[in-house]
Order: sequence, then structure tokens, then C-alpha cells
Amino acid sequence: MTNLVGTTTERIAALVAPHVDRPFRARQVAHWIVRRHAVSFDDMTDLSLALRRQLGDLFEIRDPEVVASTASGDGSTKYLFRLADGVTVEGVSMPDGSKVTLCLSSQAGCAVGCTFCVTGALGAGRNLTADEIVGQYRIMMRSAHAEAERINIVFMGMGEPLLNTTHLGDALDVLFETVSPKRITVSTAGILPGVRWLAERPRRPKLAISLNAPDQDRRREVMPISARYPLDELMNAVRAFPLERGRRITFEYVLIRGFNDAVDDAVSVARLLRGIPSKVNVIPLNEDPVHFPHLRRPDERTVDGFARALRDAGVTVTVRWSKGLDVAAACGQLRGRHQARSTAGDRVT
Ligand code: SAH
Ligand code: SF4
Repeated sequence: MTNLVGTTTERIAALVAPHVDRPFRARQVAHWIVRRHAVSFDDMTDLSLALRRQLGDLFEIRDPEVVASTASGDGSTKYLFRLADGVTVEGVSMPDGSKVTLCLSSQAGCAVGCTFCVTGALGAGRNLTADEIVGQYRIMMRSAHAEAERINIVFMGMGEPLLNTTHLGDALDVLFETVSPKRITVSTAGILPGVRWLAERPRRPKLAISLNAPDQDRRREVMPISARYPLDELMNAVRAFPLERGRRITFEYVLIRGFNDAVDDAVSVARLLRGIPSKVNVIPLNEDPVHFPHLRRPDERTVDGFARALRDAGVTVTVRWSKGLDVAAACGQLRGRHQARSTAGDRVT
């Protein structure tokens, strides 16, 4: 049965049109699904019971299953989602006053293998489809944030979104209907063909680059993908990336003790970003004694010193002390625990 989740209004209307008496009914159905996050045709109280039953026989409105949701003391909630084939992925919602940031997964694992990342330690996992990506958003919106005034979406959960461009593109088309492109950020380890793909889209979300080191040698040490897509080529692609007015590129920089946290490193980063409308998001490492016991988070003074050196060099900086640490829910630290990994589907290479 065709799942209508992860499908644009236009496409839903086209699918439903042959089964309704007037065209506006098809758009009503689409409105319920795309804008009101309906889970069932029974929700659609402005349609006749007969039509609701008929549509229910023809189409499904299926989201991932929520296996667990864990609230953290700081207000963030981590969700463990099970997909139709049993694979699990995670998402996090992080409210902040009337705003909320939703962190979505794009793959059930990650083939990129950064040495400081738990998702990377899991290894490759299949690409999520558009309905599986949009479904995470729908669930989080329904459960807590229907009233939020401002929604931000970040693709900083499990996986590398730019290794899943086909389904990401479809999911973005649906998300753009309810969330402005300037409130959606795609974060990448620097997959060059993916960055170029994004640059050519007619409507673009914001771009975040996981930099994580001040030079190619050190970047390659922690981000093996840098051998394939070297830093200088990445920076060229970033310089060529079209930016809408007022937008900047975000550079994420995971701070690892004694590895990339020196004041000199901050100076190198500032030099690297010169001329690029940008900001740096400094993320003190979330430690994981099981997967990378040798990597440590710097102390607070070092983090402050690094951020100050960047600021002194004219760079806009935010320090993200990850939310939800008490449930290991921090975005970018997701692991899909208890996961029944599937070998089926379109795995990345
Ligand atoms: N694959 C994409 C998006 C998911 S990772 C990417 O790499 O950009 C999202 C962010 O979490 C990245 O910036 C990554 O550097 C960061 N991250 C991964 N593991 C982390 C850890 N142990 N501590 C802090 N941040 C981490
Ligand atoms: Fe994959 Fe991003 Fe983790 Fe690297 S940091 S392994 S690209 S999820």
C-alpha cells in the first residue's frame, strides 16, 4: 500500500484525486498529512466517513514506530525509532523557550567512520527513505511541539545526509512546506559531490561543514573521508557554495583534548575561513569510554581559550555544550542502541 508520509502536497493530491468527487478534497487530505501531521484517515473529520474508509483501504499514513523516548533534565528528549524492517535510528528534540530544534537521522549508521563518533563506530547502515526522515519530524512535532513558534531542523543525527541525497532531497521538499529552508541545516563531513548537489538545488537548506581539525593531516587522522575529499578541495567547494542574503556557512569543530584544542589551532582555523561568511560551532567532545577511550574532552578553560582565540581573530563562535548529556542524547552522539541491524536495502559504500 502506498504510504503518503514523506510525499509533497502536490503529489498526495494527485494520488488521491482519482478517488474523490471534487479536487479540493484531495488537497484537504494532503493538508491533514503534511501540515497537521495526521496519523490516520479517521483524524480527517471534515471528510465523510465513507471517504475516510475508502482512502484507508487504498493508502496508508505510516510513521516509524517509537520504541522509546527518554526525557532529559534539560528538557531535551531522545527518541528511538524502529523502521519497517526492524532497523532503529535516533532523533532528539531540544526545546528552548518557544523554539525547538529537532535533530534528525538520515542513515541507520554511518560509513564515513570518524574516529570520535559513535554512529561511525557502528559502521555503515542503510539510507533512510523520505517517509522515514519526515516521519521522525512528524512524531516529534505531534508529541511535544505542536505549539512551538519556531522550529529548527538539523540533520545532525545518525548518518551522513549527503551520502543519501535522493531521499534527502525528497524529504526536504516535504519539510520546506512547513519549515523555512533557512531553518533547516544539513551537516556534512564534506562529501564533495553532495555539497555540489546541494549547491545546485533551487531551494537550499543551510549548510554545516564538520571541520574538526585545522589542517588536512590532522583532519585525515580523525576523518578518514578527508583522504578522498581533501580539505583544500572542500574549502573551494564551500567558497563556491551560493549563499542567500544574510546566510553563513556553519563550521562544526569537535574539540578533542591535546589534539586540536590549542590556541594556534584556533588561529589556523580563522585563517582557513578567511573571506567566507561563516560561524564556528565549537563542540567539546562527548566522550565514549567504550568506542574511543583514548579521546577526551578538553577542560573548560581550554575550551574558553580556544573560543576566545577564534573571536579575537574575528570569527563568530558559539560553544555547544551538548544538551541531554544525562541520557547520552546529545545530537551527534547517537548510536541506535539495541539495534537490529539490517543488511538489506541500499547500503552506502
Ligand atoms: N554526518 C554528518 C552529520 C551527523 S554528525 C556530519 O558529520 O556532519 C553531526 C555532528 O556531530 C558533526 O559535526 C560531528 O562532528 C559531531 N559529533 C560526532 N561525534 C561527536 C562526539 N563524540 N562529540 C561531539 N560531537 C560529535
Ligand atoms: Fe558519520 Fe558524521 Fe559520525 Fe563522521 S561524524 S562518522 S560523518 S555521522
